[in-house]
Amino acid sequence: MKFTEIEHPSHPQHTLTLVSAQEPYSCDGCKQKGFRLGERSCYECKQCNFHLHEECAMPESSAFHPFFKTCEFKFVENVQGERRCDACGKDVLGFVYQCQHENACDLHPCCMKLERTLNGDGVKLYLREKVSSGLKCLKCKSKNVAKDLKGWSYESNCGQYCYHVACVKDLILENWKKGQTSDTGLQIMVPNMEDAVEQSGRSKNGKKVNKYLTKAILVLKLIISAIFGDPIGIAVVCFEQLFSR
Ligand SMILES: [Zn+2]
Ligand SMILES: [Zn+2]
Ligand SMILES: [Zn+2]
Ligand SMILES: [Zn+2]
Ligand SMILES: [Zn+2]
Repeated sequence: MKFTEIEHPSHPQHTLTLVSAQEPYSCDGCKQKGFRLGERSCYECKQCNFHLHEECAMPESSAFHPFFKTCEFKFVENVQGERRCDACGKDVLGFVYQCQHENACDLHPCCMKLERTLNGDGVKLYLREKVSSGLKCLKCKSKNVAKDLKGWSYESNCGQYCYHVACVKDLILENWKKGQTSDTGLQIMVPNMEDAVEQSGRSKNGKKVNKYLTKAILVLKLIISAIFGDPIGIAVVCFEQLFSR
């Protein structure tokens, strides 16, 4: 059940209302971006421009994740020191789930809740703790998101497509900044044509390349929806750019 209005200790002066965000927002709990357009999943104080992800406003006091079998996570509002999310590799700047081990694991509330499988239009994607052998992320072209961090990724059941959660976050944030000054919405330009040619067997056969790209876009759309909600504008721009080459 969703509460349409809540009181939250992080913003005691006003009641927060559950809304569908109309534009990207920055969560005042975890300090990560929020993006679930058209879905009622953001608690807002309009007057103060204060926002909380649903995941941040309504946390579980203790949580478990199948990737960390021995860890019990507690929701923490203020962590000490510099911490990094073990899923996406981004800094922990606010609310976080942290485990009880001495060398603790950290997960952003939204990363904790990432879907394990994504389905759409005949494509199935699995959330992976690390990139499977023989694959690499199509955005950063490597297995790990950082030297010392593998980072989670989504892989397709056909074994051809793989993107780090971190890389899809970057991708959309880069384009979001650019997009804000224009009215073209968010533009996403991946994968590039050379990759597509290479992946479709180094043939310049237009049909094969297009098939590869079309599926790649589908894969990305699914991952973007899992992380940020379902920004329809993005998909449209992708397609236009692709076919206007
Ligand atoms: Zn948040
Ligand atoms: Zn307020
Ligand atoms: Zn642990
Ligand atoms: Zn994270
Ligand atoms: Zn990557």
